[in-house]
Amino acid sequence: MSLLQRSLAKGLLAHAYLLVGPPRVGKMTLAMDLARALNCAAAEPPCGECVSCQRVAAAKHPDVQLIGLPAGDNSVEKTRIEISIEQIRDLQHTANLPPFEGKYKVFIINGAELLSNEAANCLLKTLEEPASQVVFILLTTNDRLLPATVVSRCQRLELRPLAANEVESALGKRGIEPAKARLLARLSRGCLGWAIAAAADDSLLDARAEKIDRLLNIVRADYDERFVQAGQLASQFSQNRSAVLETLDLWRDWWRDLLLVKAGFGEGVTNIDRLAVLDEMAKSYDLPQARMVINHIQAAGEQLKLNANPRLALEVLMLNIPAGSVVKYG
Ligand SMILES: [Zn+2]
Repeated sequence: MSLLQRSLAKGLLAHAYLLVGPPRVGKMTLAMDLARALNCAAAEPPCGECVSCQRVAAAKHPDVQLIGLPAGDNSVEKTRIEISIEQIRDLQHTANLPPFEGKYKVFIINGAELLSNEAANCLLKTLEEPASQVVFILLTTNDRLLPATVVSRCQRLELRPLAANEVESALGKRGIEPAKARLLARLSRGCLGWAIAAAADDSLLDARAEKIDRLLNIVRADYDERFVQAGQLASQFSQNRSAVLETLDLWRDWWRDLLLVKAGFGEGVTNIDRLAVLDEMAKSYDLPQARMVINHIQAAGEQLKLNANPRLALEVLMLNIPAGSVVKYG
């Protein structure tokens, strides 16, 4: 935000920004902060408290418009969705009117790579002849999928994953309580957008807890039960690939945590809220076993991405997770 804050303070506002970064890194958070800052009435915008800031946050500000993917949706699988020329024409029509109640009209285009060629060309005309009091913010995971002519008309800002302590302090500034901020920062893999979403919506943490519990059950289960689990995950994969890949990522992180605990670096684990379970579980495995499980989880993920038979890949994984001995999991 600092670059944007400085530009705002100096009155050096670009007519169009292009925010580039991986899913959930915080592109939408930054775009919404900018939209609030542009329309905020306070001396140090965005204050987050004035009517204008609250309306933007609640997606009810008449001068802030979102097109493309809904906020929070980074789905890379919905590539068949297109942002059409009609949508861009509507947007241009609105852009030509003065702001209804704010200082600026802000158009956020989420998933700008989804612009059809026609739509991108149409948008380009607007970017070349910018109206005053209108700011475009384009969000994309990959700006190479956008026409170079569009990219060249925007101020490009690349967002990279942050260090865990940076996420933690950003969450703290947003009023998230310290223990939760610490946990979310570690779980976020540097993606502030995810951390902010998870702070506001418990279902993300619940889903993560469910995936870890599933792993703990598998560790204790016999082969029959493990094959049932493989079958369930395989059928889930046919409907929601990313959910299963996310499960495998969480499992891999869990076993990495186990390595850290075994090596005496328990303070560095990702799953800091489950440190007691990790400590307990670490007694059942040695380092080579934990490393081997990580390799098998990674191999299963690779095979799924390469469209191998999902059931087979997951069954192989299930066979390769060594059973934990008598361990009580919390
Ligand atoms: Zn405000």
